[in-house]
Amino acid sequence: MKFYSTNNKDLNDNFRTALFKGMPSDKGLYMPRLLPDLSKLFNQESRMSFQEMSFEISKKFLDEDLSKNQIQNIIESCITFDAPNKKIEKNLYCLELFHGPTLAFKDFGARFMAQCMQSLRDNSSKEINILVATSGDTGGAVANGFYDVDGINVIILYPKGKVSEIQEKQLTTLDRNVFALEVDGTFDDCQKLVKKAFLDDKLNEQINLSSANSINIARLIPQSFYYAHSYMQLDNKKLPTIFSVPCGNFGNITAGLIIKKMGLPFKKIIASTNSNDVIPKFLETGKFSPKPSIQTISNAMDVGNPSNIVRIMDLYHTLEKLKMDMISWSFNETETSNLIKEFFLEKKYLLDPHTSVALLGILKYEKEQSQNFNKIFLGTAHPAKFLDVVEKNINFNIKLPKRLNKLLSLEKKSVLLKNSYDEFYDYLLSSFQ
Ligand SMILES: *Cc1c(COP(=O)(O)O)cnc(C)c1O
Repeated sequence: MKFYSTNNKDLNDNFRTALFKGMPSDKGLYMPRLLPDLSKLFNQESRMSFQEMSFEISKKFLDEDLSKNQIQNIIESCITFDAPNKKIEKNLYCLELFHGPTLAFKDFGARFMAQCMQSLRDNSSKEINILVATSGDTGGAVANGFYDVDGINVIILYPKGKVSEIQEKQLTTLDRNVFALEVDGTFDDCQKLVKKAFLDDKLNEQINLSSANSINIARLIPQSFYYAHSYMQLDNKKLPTIFSVPCGNFGNITAGLIIKKMGLPFKKIIASTNSNDVIPKFLETGKFSPKPSIQTISNAMDVGNPSNIVRIMDLYHTLEKLKMDMISWSFNETETSNLIKEFFLEKKYLLDPHTSVALLGILKYEKEQSQNFNKIFLGTAHPAKFLDVVEKNINFNIKLPKRLNKLLSLEKKSVLLKNSYDEFYDYLLSSFQ
């Protein structure tokens, strides 16, 4: 498979280039040249394992750059936990994507990208140093994804005192090839330091820098696996099926739309957002107006200028066509926290705030329908990750998963850094040259 740029259809980069560059030089986003038809696979009755399904889909994207064996190894190293359809009631499922090491769906993208980089890196060359600025969640998933991967170091910059205790422990307790820098500043300061390092020719001559940016096509591909796996597990495939996805940067839902184009026979996908409603407004008015993000309790979705809309429009060309497959609605804070409470009382199922937004999308769609259908909402984070919000709503102490308890007892290891590029530069050279 070759990859073009949303700014230039003639570009023909291989997967390796797209993986390591992250973004084409023309500042578009990478897209797969073809979306092969897999409907035969999706229509068969036999139940493939999650790994088998992931392998069949990956093959289509990676086959020019990697052998079958290598692809198999990537899948076996990154798909090591399940993404089950948790049945809540008849025809209603939560697709639980939070059984990975950092308890959020970003583990899929980060782990797949890390394994691909390990397989495709040039063994004769110097170690690769991945720089990541994080406001909390992405850094944890990336650090875990690359943990102990040969020849690759991860350097994470996070704002001192501005991430939760669990998040900080996820960033600072890994050691080996993962290095945490606690920056005396904000997330924006961290991001500025990283950007400056990428543009610094003198630094780049001396050490090999790379990024694990969320718009990397290698983070998108594995997010298609679980839609297919979820669909294949349904009890009754004769019913029409809808998915609802809690959206921020719209990467997860783009993967859903890609797999739909590859023949996964579901009816519609709902892009559920919090108060950051740029895309719902876009679908309603036809005008795309990015805004500064608004802070909410589903903070991983606080995005005011979702970058993947460029990919979505590249897939559909017009809003009319897009609207046949995708609906988008925004939900506010009261709706989100009320549903956490109600759902716990009525169904004994605990939603994290992001997952609650996804379920709101299903409930709204259901009200408009008379027929039965399979309803699947994506559970993107474990409720224990958002303890304070969730506990406030249910008046009940959540039992932490064992892994989290263990994590909290580990010792934090980080390097304190002033918000100064010179200091950052010296740190990088002295540690990684
Ligand atoms: C990142 C994230 C989202 C949003 O996913 P996008 O691909 O950016 O739309 C939703 N929920 C959680 C828990 C996240 O971490």
